[in-house]
Amino acid sequence: MTMKTIAKNNFDNSKTNCVFGTYEWANETVNIIDGCKHDCKYCYSKAMAIRFKRKTPANWKEEKIRNNGSLNYSKKVDGTIMFPSSHDIHPEHLSYHIDFIERLLEHGNRLLIVTKPHFDSIKTICEQFIDYRDKILFRFTIGSINSDILKFWEPGAPDFNERLKVLKYAFNKNFQTSVSCEPMLDNNIVGVIDAVYPFITDSIWLGKANYLIKRLKFNKADDHLTMKKALQLLNWQSDDNIQDLYDIYKDDAKIKWKESIKSIVGIKIPIQSGLDI
Ligand code: SF4
Repeated sequence: MTMKTIAKNNFDNSKTNCVFGTYEWANETVNIIDGCKHDCKYCYSKAMAIRFKRKTPANWKEEKIRNNGSLNYSKKVDGTIMFPSSHDIHPEHLSYHIDFIERLLEHGNRLLIVTKPHFDSIKTICEQFIDYRDKILFRFTIGSINSDILKFWEPGAPDFNERLKVLKYAFNKNFQTSVSCEPMLDNNIVGVIDAVYPFITDSIWLGKANYLIKRLKFNKADDHLTMKKALQLLNWQSDDNIQDLYDIYKDDAKIKWKESIKSIVGIKIPIQSGLDI
């Protein structure tokens, strides 16, 4: 059995009943920062932080290391830990991320590292944790191959070329790799799949833009242009178009469907609900 096959089995969450949001991917999520410099217009974490008055739309992109004991995390989780889930791995705080990942791994955990990846950050993580390749699965978020579209929706995040470069780098270093195309950000998802597929060891997850209008309003990203583009995106993600996309890839075991798509194409969704708004 190759290392990549072992890795895939290690990260199989199919036996859990938790299928919404991050629970579809991991048994637990951990975070060490409030705020995120990527400042995605559709961000769920931003909406929640605004809702519970931890952040404002204006200061969400100011990152602050948590001072609540998060950095002292010392659990061994039975299953996979997703890190991070409510911020990202920005180069500015890379040393904190490295220290925290080391802590998680030292306790014997298996990690799902989810990020809109910056090359230097992920290169450093790969170098630092090369001996933990069987414990780390990368999931790089790539919602479009069009950097202008990425820039519009995710203004502080790397462009497509940088994200693809990171994916190739991690793959060539024999890390376990996957891609999240959630939210899908245009109507060329076939283009995303074609571009990333050769460098994937695990899976490509596809998902719609959940609660898009509601989140844009929460996040005060509801200017005329953004709402116009949001309506276009929702139109692209009509049930008929989603069904067409599903029909293309339904027999491809590497393509995975988030609950927003499962519910349209008739894949049964188990019971437990996540924390979405
Ligand atoms: S990278 Fe993630 S946490 Fe950061 S703003 Fe974007 S969606 Fe939110």
